[in-house]
Amino acid sequence: MQSDDDLLTFADERESPLTAVAVHTRKILIVDDDEDVHQATTFALQGLEILGHPLIFLHAYSAREAESLLAQEDNIAVILLDVVMESEDAGLRLVEHIRKHMQLTTPRIILRTGQPGYAPELSAIRDYDINDYKTKNELTRTRLYTSVTAAIRSYDQICKLDASRRGLELIVAASGRLVAENGLQAFAAGIITQIAALLGVGAEGLVCAQEQPTDSEGKEGREPIIVVVAAAGRFAGLVQRKLEEIDSERVRGALCRCLSQKTNLIENDAVALFFPARSGNHFAAFIDSPALLSEIDQHLLQVFCSNIAVCAENTRLLARLHDQAYLDRLVRLPTRTAFIEAIDEHIQTGTTAGYTVGLIDIDQFAETNETFGHGYGDAVLRGVAQRLDGALGESCRIARISGDTFGVLGLSWAVRPEKLRPLLSEPLLIDDEVLHQLSISMGFAHLAEVRSGNDAIKNASLAVKLARTEGPGRDAVYTEEIGLETRERTHLLHSLHAAFQHERLFVAYQPQVDAQTGKPLGFEALMRWRDDKGDFIPPDRFIPLAEQSGLINGMGRWIMRSALRTLHRLAEAGWQGLRMAINVSVVQFQAEDFIDSVAAAIRETGVPAARVELEITESVAMANAAEVEVKLQALKALGVTIAIDDFGTGFSSLSYLDRLPIDRLKIDRSFVANIGNGEEGARITEMIIALGHKLNMALIAEGVEDVRQLELLRALGCHEAQGYYFARPMGADDIGKWLHDNS
Ligand code: C2E
Ligand code: CA
Ligand code: CA
Repeated sequence: MQSDDDLLTFADERESPLTAVAVHTRKILIVDDDEDVHQATTFALQGLEILGHPLIFLHAYSAREAESLLAQEDNIAVILLDVVMESEDAGLRLVEHIRKHMQLTTPRIILRTGQPGYAPELSAIRDYDINDYKTKNELTRTRLYTSVTAAIRSYDQICKLDASRRGLELIVAASGRLVAENGLQAFAAGIITQIAALLGVGAEGLVCAQEQPTDSEGKEGREPIIVVVAAAGRFAGLVQRKLEEIDSERVRGALCRCLSQKTNLIENDAVALFFPARSGNHFAAFIDSPALLSEIDQHLLQVFCSNIAVCAENTRLLARLHDQAYLDRLVRLPTRTAFIEAIDEHIQTGTTAGYTVGLIDIDQFAETNETFGHGYGDAVLRGVAQRLDGALGESCRIARISGDTFGVLGLSWAVRPEKLRPLLSEPLLIDDEVLHQLSISMGFAHLAEVRSGNDAIKNASLAVKLARTEGPGRDAVYTEEIGLETRERTHLLHSLHAAFQHERLFVAYQPQVDAQTGKPLGFEALMRWRDDKGDFIPPDRFIPLAEQSGLINGMGRWIMRSALRTLHRLAEAGWQGLRMAINVSVVQFQAEDFIDSVAAAIRETGVPAARVELEITESVAMANAAEVEVKLQALKALGVTIAIDDFGTGFSSLSYLDRLPIDRLKIDRSFVANIGNGEEGARITEMIIALGHKLNMALIAEGVEDVRQLELLRALGCHEAQGYYFARPMGADDIGKWLHDNS
């Protein structure tokens, strides 16, 4: 019953030029308990090629035997399966086993039965993906051929689909991996590995080449330079070399043609893939493929290439990001991150002895920026960077650590003030016209004493800070003690915060008296802090901390309110006319809302403003002339009085002092302490008192400890006094009794 149709189909299939798949056999498994059927089938199909594939036959005589055969043999294309064997439905059960339990979806199954009346349920055919169902006597040689051909064709298709699905999965995974690469080098190497995996070939014959960026200016029309960016196997030694150095004309030619034609080249013995890059520096990968690539593989490579173009862009983006994290754009120096990594590298490799990290910090850079503009500031930074790089670029690592701070890492003999200062002592030429004189503060940390790059920078910047406390243009080296001191201060600041929050601060009051009569005139409020352990921490220690951290503003508002409340209570208890002196720190005084906060405290406590005195140190009063004058005027307008604390320790200009609305000068206790020890102490005190008289200001001496000091002060005409001789600072509860005893 052979039909011409059948023959035509065969002829077509055989000559199909489409599939260039390498020659492969197809396995046919015959499962039947009848030996004759085995023989007839092999005889009918023997020597034939189906779709260009020679056939191989496997034989099983029971379902069980078939199971174990299937477990051992891969790639069985077609199973010719008898339905009735050990049992009525042994064949169908085997199908279920294959599809369900073994999860074999690719083999095509042709069911055969000897009993014409016996047909399996349609649903079984559908559910178990059975290719064909025939009664044995229907299966003439031709029919069998047709049926097996159809089965093999669909087997091939299923395999292809499977392969491309897996290939696509590979591509997705490969792209993901490639995206993560930073640096084109790694990216190119990745492409090679991925292609090799994709095609299941070794990376031996793979080369990746890229056109090199040529300077955009005026080099149009030049032959692009092509460089090997990645290679494996016998070409591995050529990475970073020019393409011309590859001795194989075949490889060289394919890559060149691929890049110049900007297209994938799929030739008989080689493949060159083109990876376009937006930058114009395209890639090409050469695959030395002995056998022709299958259609599937070609298709996969196309998909891969277009995916890779996206990856390449991402890689460039990553590289740029990397650049940004490691290179400061403004001054073209490595960044803090890069600097820290460089230090960490030293530490990891154990090369720390004899190395030092230096930080160079420009003094008053913020002011320079504000005064001359940011363009000018940038030019200063660039100038510093150039100086440092020019002088030390070869021997040291230089980086921009932050806004106006530069880092130098190098041998200790080079990284020290004597070597660095001269580099920046000559003025910088800004914008070709202005000469800018720099002042710099520096801090140093020895690498042998740090555990990480972060540590080194932290320590060196502590040293800078310490140097700054001495004024601009200084330097310091980090030491254990500095570290300890800083840690202690940090700890103390934390405790102070907590103490303030939990209201563990309190106020002590020290009487101020009439120097002639000893009668109480008022009190100075002094802050007290007793820590968890019950120890008193002197204000000289915690007030500076509070000032540095800004905590002083809150603390200042609190003590003002507490002290005025105390004053109010005293007045209610009958002690009227007393004043309350409150210390004002620089930070408070400079705060914008300071005047408002004083006004609010007065309003809320209901004390007469005239009974409130603010003690401002001489250094604050002399700082920013115009601003201080305006502020003091505003405070005076509230009705409060102003005393200059620690007077005599600063260098007040007399004419300036005269302009300020000051009520009282408070003679610093250092002069009072020396008043009895020879002429010097007495003379200064005498001058201060004379000055007060001349400027029409009241005078108070602080730190009066004995009667001799008091008598000398009286003799010099000092009106008021305060000191241990009269009373030590006392708790609010003790004031009443003291007033009672001393009035
Ligand atoms: P100050 O304003 O000069 O305060 C006077 C200091 O002299 C107080 O020290 C006081 O206890 C001490 N003193 C008083 N009489 C004598 C004496 O006869 N002999 C000696 N040797 N010392 C005497 P204290 O309380 O330790 O305060 C130290 C400094 O802390 C104060 O110096 C002031 O600058 C600052 N301070 C204290 N409380 C506050 C505050 O509430 N706010 C601000 N901003 N600073 C405060
Ligand atoms: Ca004071
Ligand atoms: Ca004082």
